[in-house]
Parts: sequence; structure tokens; C-alpha cells
Amino acid sequence: MYSNAAILRAIGESYFELENNSRPSKAIPKIIANLGQATKVDRIYIFKNHLNDLGEPCMTYTYEWCAPGVTPQLDFDYLQELPWSLFSDIETDLRTNRVINALVKDTKNGEFYEAMVAQGILSYLFIPIFSGSYFWGYIGFDNCSKEELFTNDQVSSLHALAATLGVKILNDLQHRKLLRSRKSFYDLINNMNDVVFRLDLEGTIKYLNPVWEKLSGYTVEESVGKQTFDFYESEYWVEIQQRLDNLINGITLEDMLELKLIHKNGQRIWVKVYAKLLKKENGKIQGITGTVFNIHQQKEMMLELQESQRSQQRLNELLQAVNEAHLSFFVENDFQSPLEVFLDQILQITGSKFGFIGEVFFDAGQPYLVTHTLTNIAWDEDSKEFFKKNYRGGIEFRNLDTLFGYTLRTGEVVLANDVATDPRASGMLPKGHPPLKRFLGIPVKKAGKFIGMMGFANKETDYTEEDVSFLQPLISGYANLISAIRINRARKKAEELQRISDEKYKLVSENTGDIIALHDLQMRFVYVSPSIKKVLGASPDDIIGKKPSEVFGVKENQPELSMQTEKFVVPHFHLLTGEEIYLEILMSPLMNESGEVYSYLATSRDVTQREKMLIELKETLAREQELNQMKTRFISMTSHEFRTPLATVQSSVEIMEMFLENEEISNKVKDKFSLHFSRISLQVERLSKVIADLLLIGKSSQNKIIVSKQPIAIQSFLGNLVDNYPVPPERTLKINKMQQEIELTTDPIWLSHIVSNLIDNAFKYSKGPKDPQVILSNDEKHVFLTIKDFGIGIPKSEQKYIFDSFFRAKNVSTIKGTGLGLNIVKDFADRIGIDIQFKSKENEGSAFTLLIPYE
Ligand code: ADP
Repeated sequence: MYSNAAILRAIGESYFELENNSRPSKAIPKIIANLGQATKVDRIYIFKNHLNDLGEPCMTYTYEWCAPGVTPQLDFDYLQELPWSLFSDIETDLRTNRVINALVKDTKNGEFYEAMVAQGILSYLFIPIFSGSYFWGYIGFDNCSKEELFTNDQVSSLHALAATLGVKILNDLQHRKLLRSRKSFYDLINNMNDVVFRLDLEGTIKYLNPVWEKLSGYTVEESVGKQTFDFYESEYWVEIQQRLDNLINGITLEDMLELKLIHKNGQRIWVKVYAKLLKKENGKIQGITGTVFNIHQQKEMMLELQESQRSQQRLNELLQAVNEAHLSFFVENDFQSPLEVFLDQILQITGSKFGFIGEVFFDAGQPYLVTHTLTNIAWDEDSKEFFKKNYRGGIEFRNLDTLFGYTLRTGEVVLANDVATDPRASGMLPKGHPPLKRFLGIPVKKAGKFIGMMGFANKETDYTEEDVSFLQPLISGYANLISAIRINRARKKAEELQRISDEKYKLVSENTGDIIALHDLQMRFVYVSPSIKKVLGASPDDIIGKKPSEVFGVKENQPELSMQTEKFVVPHFHLLTGEEIYLEILMSPLMNESGEVYSYLATSRDVTQREKMLIELKETLAREQELNQMKTRFISMTSHEFRTPLATVQSSVEIMEMFLENEEISNKVKDKFSLHFSRISLQVERLSKVIADLLLIGKSSQNKIIVSKQPIAIQSFLGNLVDNYPVPPERTLKINKMQQEIELTTDPIWLSHIVSNLIDNAFKYSKGPKDPQVILSNDEKHVFLTIKDFGIGIPKSEQKYIFDSFFRAKNVSTIKGTGLGLNIVKDFADRIGIDIQFKSKENEGSAFTLLIPYE
């Protein structure tokens, strides 16, 4: 932040310099040095505008102040005669008296951007200087160390200072112009012949040389013999007589007098008369002789100069008044008291009897005026009371049918020197209002916006355009003040809104269990709600200014706070108990109007319980997975171990059956053995099937199943399978085929495994005389294969479990099984892209349908 106090002091000192240096060129170096020390920028300079040889507008780097250690650039050639056309957008702003207060990175002009970056400049302020209506140049402030903008108040005050500097420059110019013409006059006069005259002691003209004719318009003949007094303005007669007497009486030896000569054409001409006594050799006084110069031009110029100096001084006083209003508004927020002085001075200077100055507002497009100050012209008790009550807050004027209303409506100057007959003043004055004879209404505009108005009345002589142009610097100073007031008003409003929202925010944040915190860009706490005490044992005062990691400890791999904009969970340690507390944090970046992040808002919730449960759950899940793996490994290991002994048992039984053929053994023994052998075989077969199933499940859960699809003609494939199926005794198996053969792609091994399993079950769970059926049908995408039986069915309540491993329904009674078959069927069907649906009703039967896709 640039320091307000320092800038104000520097501005004050600068006004002093302007006041006390006759030439702006002497004041400027001191002013920019003052401002440089106050703002601590790296460089302040003034570019002066001029035309180059081609007549193009250019600027030249003319004054400079550099901070210690910064290289001066005053002698750099490239800063001389820089054409404005290179920076046309900047020129447009400055030429319309707009200040540029910006960061280099935001500039859109490539040429300018490069020039600024090359000099290491980060932010800058350009303030235009106007000499009258001429765009004279601008003051630039370069900051190379920070991206920092000046506040609106600071800009406004510096702009006012630049306006005053402009007025000073304008005056200086006029002054020098006058001096120049005065010099040429001297040259002239030196080359002109003098009028030589002789008078007698009574003042009668005795002699004149011919130059007299040029000066007075009278011929020498006409003039000689006449009284010298006749040729001069009567106001000088007494003085002339006095001077002549003094000469004659020897009180003065010679004399000189400036007076007005009356030309033959009536014109008054300033002349300078030198006179001395003319004595004869004998010492006798003969008369008076001398010379007359025409000093008219010189004298007029002198008077003009004096007038100009006087008006410059008055103007300076007035500017001082606006600036004082500005400063006192800046410092004390009071602009009314200095404006009262200001109005008084303007009334005096314009010779007006009363007037007002104020701000213009718009209400639904209609302009109206609110005074900052006005002359008290109250004429009766009521108007006195009204004035007293409303004066401070500003009096509102909304009647547009008046002379000031005309300015309000049109934004134009009103010069009304005969109010009584003026068509613009159609409205009546309130009864008792002092009569309005002449009126001058001036709009106050800034950057084309109509923001204020001044009105003056009853000057003794007519109001003129000159009055308006004379007041111009004051009007723009007042415009600056109004914009400063407006900026301040907007700021106050924003602060009030901010305060209300802060309060609401506090209310919420202090009454919730969640922690609400504001962090700066380095993640340091700027604000934190008191709830942090309960959750983490830290009191807000202790942690403001610190980072969360500095206070609550960091775990490894903790997410980087500032980077997160979504919810995330971070472990913290409770400051008092040391307990691990998990916070779920939601970070939202807060941005200013230009979209830059200036702060982070974090809302955090204690989710320790949830997080701990989650961790536990994860651990349980991991344990379960491990157990499952162990189980699978165990099953496949034991199955392998069972297979070999079973094969041995089976082959031994077969060998024993061969021995049994031996005739020596009785038939009775043979039968007994035979019965046991077939029992052993049956059980071995069942055991082998169980082991085969278990091995398959093991393979499947270890993902060792290989699927290899190939095209098959489904009708003949299934026909074959059914034909070769070992149908149990006294049962049959029929297949209902489709109209035509269909070729599709699938894994034939797994498909036949699935179908066989389903047919196995259909026979196994059949009861009654009806045999199971295989039915084939199709649509455009699938072949439907249904295996239907008329058996025991599956109880409704258990249907949802039938694909689970080891599940067997309650109604299977003595029918043997493991509950693995359907589990494997489902698993393989999934793997080769076949969907299984089934319908079943207890004691009526079941139908399992495979949906086999063509591809
Ligand atoms: P299991 O070895 O018991 O036959 P499955 O996995 O093949 O094992 O079948 C699981 C259970 O589903 C069976 O125990 C039985 O209760 C039921 N089930 C399967 N198919 C049929 C069917 N066609 N009719 C009636 N119940 C069936």
C-alpha cells in the first residue's frame, strides 16, 4: 500500500512549490522528488508533448526523478521524440484526461508491454497534464518492485495536483508571450523618433517637430499656439500644472510623466513625457522643452500583464481552495467547510451576489441537484428554517423548468443576462425569493460524465464566455473532488455491506460444530471459528498467523492444502489429548473482482469416527480376501492330493473284479464281492466328480480358466451332445430343434460343460413319469436353449441362492449333490457371455434357459 499520509504531505509541499516558484520548470523537479520519496516508487518522470518535423504528435522524456540506485534515463535517445502513434490506446485515455493506474501484466498494447517489461516495471500510474485544453504531457510513476495500484483517493488527489500544475504552465506560457511582445515593443520604440516640443511658461505650445503629427493626428500648425493641456486627458491637468510649477520654481530640474494623450480621432494614447527648463545663456528662463514617446502598446501590455498576474493569483487562491477541500475531505472526510470558502471566493471573483455548487444525480433518468453548499438567501421564517434544517445534508432541487434546470436537462452552460425575458426560465421563483437578474449555470463533468453543477447569480455586468473559461481549472478541480466523494461513498457502502456479511458469517461460524477458517495465500490462518477449540483443542488466538501443519502436525503424504478444491480428509493431532482427529476439509478459493485468488475459505468437519470405521472395514475386507485365497489354495491342493489315491482305489477295484471271474470262488461270494465293488466304484466316481468340480472352482478363482471361442453350428452341436448323453435307465431325452441351423461363436468346451450340468440336474431332480426336454429357439441376436424338467422344482424362497457355492435347497431330501454344479455353470456362462434365466415351481418342475449370443 502506498502511504496516504506521505502522499498527502508531498502533495501539500508540491502546492507550496508551485505557489513559490515563478517558473513551473523550477518547481517540477522538486515536486517529483517529493512525490518520489512519498510513494517510494522507482522512478517519476514527465513526458512533454510536441510535434515532430513531420507534424506528428510526439512526446519527449523531459523531467525525471530516480530512487537511489535506479539508473537515470534522461539522456536516452529513444525517449526523445517518441511518436504517440505507437501507444494510441494510452494516448486516447490520457488525451481525454483519464488517469491510467494499472499493472503491466494487464496491458494489451504489445509495444508498450515490451517497453515496460524491458525496464523491469511491474505497475505504473500515468496522470495527464492539461494546460488549458491542450494535452501538455503526463506524469508517470514506475514501480519495479511491486505490483501495486494507487487507491482512488490517492489518484484523485494526484490528478488535482496535475491540474494545478497545468494551470501554472498555462499562466507561465501567457506570461512569457507577453514578455516577448514587450521586448519587440522596446525594439520598436528605440527606432522611433521622439516628438520634440517647447512650451512657454504658461504652457502654450511654441514648437513641435513633425513626428507630432504621427502621434496625435493634429498638424503642427493646428497645434502650435494652443495650450498643451488641451491635448491630454483632463484627469492629468492638475498633475501637469504641478509638475510645470515645480520645474519653473527650480524644485525639480527635469521631470517625467506617463499620461494619456487624446488623439485627433478621440483615441486615448499612453505617452511618456520628459521635460526640463529651457534657459538662455544669460540664465533667464525661456520656457520648457522636452520629448514625448508613444508608450501606448507597452503600457497596455503592462496593464494586461498586471491584470493577468492578479487573475493568476486569484486563480491560484481558488485552486488552493479546491485542493484544500480535496485534502480535508481526504483526511477528515469533511468537504463542506472548505467548499463554503471556495464558493465565497468564486462569488467574489465573478462578482456574483449568490450561488450554489452541488452534485448531479439521476433518478429514473431524470437529473436532479443536491447542493454541497449554497449562499443563504433565506427571505422569511419558513425559508430560514428550511435552510437551517437541510443545509448540512444538502438541499435537493428537482424542478427542471428553471434556468439551472436547463443546465441539468441539457448539460450545457447557461449564460442568462436578462433573466426576466429568458425563455429558458419559464418556472416562477418562490414568493419572496430575491429577484434573479443574471444567471450563470455551469455543468461539471468528468470523463464526459455529468456529475455536478455550479450556479451563480446577479453579477453587476453581463456573464460572459470568459467567465466560464476562467473558471475552467476550478471546475475540473471540483469534478475531481466530486469523483473522490463518490468513490468514498461507494467504498463506505461496500464496507457496510462487508460488515453485515461479516456479522452474518460470524454468527454462522461461531454457532456450528464445523470449523470455518480463512487462510491467506500461504495457508496461514486469518480467521478460524471458535469450534476449533472443541474439535482440536486449539484456541483461535493461538493459531492465527500460523499454518495448519505448524500447529497440528503433518502426516506423511498429507495432501497439499492450497492445491485442493474438492473435499479431502486430513489427519490432525488433538493439541491436548494427542488423539488422531480426521478432518474432512472443503477448500474454496475466494477471488477479487479481477479473478485473482486472495484467500481460501476452509470448512472442516470432524469425521474421525467414520474414518476409523472405514479403516477397520478395509482391514476386515483384506483379511477376508486373504482367507478366501487360503481356502482356494487349500482346496486345489487337497483335490490334487485326493485324485491319485482315488485313481489307485478305482484301478484296484477293477483288478479285484477281474480276479473275481475266477471259477474257484463260489457264486454266493462272487455276488457279495460284486455288490461291494460296485458300491466302491460308485462312490469313487462321485468323489472324483466333486474333486473335478473343486479343481475347476479353484482354477476359476485364480483366473486360470482359458476361454477359446470358435464358430460352431449350434443345432448339430447340441444334437450330438444330446444323442451321446448317458440317459438314465427308463428315461428318454428329446431335443426340439429350430427351423434352420445357426452358426455362432462360442467356447464349445465350456458350453457343453454347462449344458451337461443342467441336463444332469434335470434328470437328478425329475420325479414322476414325464422326461426332461431340450428346446431350441432363436431371435435375431440369440439362440435360446431351454432344459426343462417336471421334477421337484425349487422352493420360491430359495431361488435367489441357487447359484451360490455349496447351496442346496431344502427339498432335495436324499438326492445326493454338493451344491457346486450351478455355481460353476453360472461362472462359466458369465465368462463366455451367456446369460442364464430360470423358472421353477416346487413340485411342478424347473426350466433353465441359456441366452447364447451369435457373436
Ligand atoms: P447339486 O449338486 O446339489 O445338484 P447344483 O449346484 O447343481 O448342486 O444345484 C444346487 C441346488 O439347486 C440343488 O441342490 C437343488 O436344490 C437346486 N436345483 C438345481 N437344479 C434343479 C432342478 N432341475 N430341479 C430342482 N432343483 C434344482
